Amino acid sequence: MYCRKCGELIKENMKHCPNCGIQVVKIEQKSETRQELEAKRQAKHPNEKNPYIAAAMIPTFIALVLAVFPWNLIGEGIGTSLAMRIIIVVLALLGDYHITKAKQVNNLLFSKYGFRIKASSVKVIGSVAMFVTAVSLFSLFMI
Ligand SMILES: [Zn+2]
Repeated sequence: MYCRKCGELIKENMKHCPNCGIQVVKIEQKSETRQELEAKRQAKHPNEKNPYIAAAMIPTFIALVLAVFPWNLIGEGIGTSLAMRIIIVVLALLGDYHITKAKQVNNLLFSKYGFRIKASSVKVIGSVAMFVTAVSLFSLFMI
């Protein structure tokens, strides 16, 4: 930081310039982050919703739980049965489909009002859905 009058270097926590004695006034340069800005815009449109986020999250979460569940603890073969593998693939694909829809709705909202709803959640759910799809498809055809 430098003095706005004489240009002397001013250290943090100094209240006056060591050269010219002028009072140090810190100018807040807090610029809003993109998320804060979008949250503000979203607050103006409280009725806009993105139902596809929940519609993507629920099947993705169930698919993930079913995929990682320690099936061998409760019964042999249930988790690796063909039916179970198909169920997991279908749920994961449902998650993929709805996350695509959620992104479409968010892009529409962004072009209309300048905000997206839960953009980071959509990213995370999308990654999980894609991961579960890849793993479950692999297990369906390779095991
Ligand atoms: Zn100065």
